[in-house]
Amino acid sequence: MPSPIQNIGILAHVDAGKTTITENFLHLSGLTRSRGRVDDGNTTTDYMSIERERGISVRSAGVSIPWKDGIINLIDTPGHVDFSAEVERVLRVLDGAIVVISAVEGVQSHTISLVEILKDMEIPFIFFVNKIDRRGADVEAVCEAIDTDLGVVPLPINLPKKEGSNEVEILDYWNPDILSEFIGFHSKNKEKIIERDDNLMERYLNEETISNEELWNSAKINFKKNKFTPLLTGIAKNEIGMFELLNAVQDFLPKAKQTPSSPLSALVFKIEHDKVLGRLAHVRVFDGEIRSKGVIFHQRTNKEIKLGIVRKIRLNRPEDISEISAGDIGVISGSPELQTGDIIGQVNNIPPSKVLHDSVMTVQVKPLESKDYHPLSLALQILDSEDPSLNLSWYKTEQEFHLKVVGPMQIEILENQIKERFKIEAIFEEPTIIYKERPLKKAEGYIRYWMPKPCWAILTFLIEPGEIGSGIQYQSIVSQNDVHIKYQNEVRRTIKKSLKQGIKGWEVTDIKITLIAGEDHHIHSRPGDFILATPMGIMKGLTESGTEFLEPVLSFTIKASEEHLGKIASDLTQMRARFSTPVFENNNFSINGHVPASTSLDYSIKLNSITSGKGRIYLKFNG
Ligand code: GDP
Repeated sequence: MPSPIQNIGILAHVDAGKTTITENFLHLSGLTRSRGRVDDGNTTTDYMSIERERGISVRSAGVSIPWKDGIINLIDTPGHVDFSAEVERVLRVLDGAIVVISAVEGVQSHTISLVEILKDMEIPFIFFVNKIDRRGADVEAVCEAIDTDLGVVPLPINLPKKEGSNEVEILDYWNPDILSEFIGFHSKNKEKIIERDDNLMERYLNEETISNEELWNSAKINFKKNKFTPLLTGIAKNEIGMFELLNAVQDFLPKAKQTPSSPLSALVFKIEHDKVLGRLAHVRVFDGEIRSKGVIFHQRTNKEIKLGIVRKIRLNRPEDISEISAGDIGVISGSPELQTGDIIGQVNNIPPSKVLHDSVMTVQVKPLESKDYHPLSLALQILDSEDPSLNLSWYKTEQEFHLKVVGPMQIEILENQIKERFKIEAIFEEPTIIYKERPLKKAEGYIRYWMPKPCWAILTFLIEPGEIGSGIQYQSIVSQNDVHIKYQNEVRRTIKKSLKQGIKGWEVTDIKITLIAGEDHHIHSRPGDFILATPMGIMKGLTESGTEFLEPVLSFTIKASEEHLGKIASDLTQMRARFSTPVFENNNFSINGHVPASTSLDYSIKLNSITSGKGRIYLKFNG
């Protein structure tokens, strides 16, 4: 029997302590001799220096940590929302996750997005509340925030005594001698357990005594059903609570399925450039196995391709291996066809992708010197293959490159990458909000493409505005006798591409298109004629109908103290927000609504200054 494998992500907002936890895990499992410290700038463990030297993020490559009888592949994820595209891709390969929250800062808006998507993708997780030594640490308050803001019911596995001081220690919450330490908090937890267990509820109503052991047994069952989420605490900085956290990963999070004899099914979740090994595709194998130099079926191109060498990244060096088996992760080099998000073999049980934060801005990139125009185009194409959410557009006649981005932080990183990795000085213009277009009214677009012969495609499209959020709808009511099915298929396939740029230059959406008339020619028509005619016909229709702008809208929740309500409400009105009546609780209010991205992207900074850092805004792409 192979050792059980778990692919685990550590998710957190910036500064919660992820790097420190990873270092600790490596140290505890015996992989590194000394523990690197973020603060001393001496993260000189073998593992961090290799990362610096090689320019490859070993952590995100997945460090395999042997723990007890199993293996935990730890997959690090970026903490800033600007890198959410990367988080999304990593999530697809996880069996479970650790969500780190600071005991002082508590639940942040990024924590809310992360937990929401973990729930959405049905990835089980546990909480680790870090920094219980810091002044202001309040684990009980964090538990309450988890309950109200995240809609998840946490149940402690361990808790701090004397939190917020140097004398803090963690105690095993379920130890009968210790439960009494937390009497007030425990009675609340006890109620929660009983409420979720019919049997215990009945006994409680009959006023029977319920032992702590019975409560614990009931909790364990409900952890599995996700009615409760385990919560652990600690001080990563001092390696406290780390051993317990590793044990909890094995006790509470699922193991990968290990089915090497099934047909191959794997996902490329990251492309990276290693100074020595070159381009590396990081893969998770879900079923079957990937063999070094093996021939695989590549879904995106619908072709068989021969792979390069398969490796496992160990701490100090990459190790050639003969195969990556089901349940495990590894890297493939020498396979230029592979891109981030690609599926190898069958789709099978690979979880679908989800969007955490959609890019709402586009930014133009130019070389500083014109001689760099071609190298820059190559560099951007490489970056785009590593992160397809950049959605590189190249307007060759204007010599312009455009990228889609989530926020300013991402631009900074891209600029730096182009400089450091590709040695090109590039200029990023001010980003602009991405708008879309929608037809204003019903109109017809007629195209007769028949000159110069031999060519023949005659089409009439009916264009109508669709409901907001409905996207693109297409149907044909033309008989196959008028336009052969093979040509109709070309029209259907070309619709989406034809809407990439409307008459105002933005993508067209929320549109209903019906092919209402058409004609082919049994001698002169070629499929290519319909591919050319379709965008022309649609463009004519859009010119007739006219289009209106649609702007990206975010949904928001703001929580702050009552005294700031007036100022915040007036800001919201100025930002063209639509919002509900505020809800009040203990001198605080909370308000929900929708607001254009163009007016609100930097509001979190403003809110911070209005409320002296106490207010919170949670923004999410809405449509
Ligand atoms: P990351 O951004 O999530 O990777 O966080 P880091 O691991 O880099 O930690 C951010 C900062 O918090 C560093 O200065 C750490 O030393 C500090 N830190 C990490 N864990 C703890 C802890 O348990 N207590 C305290 N007081 N500081 C911590």
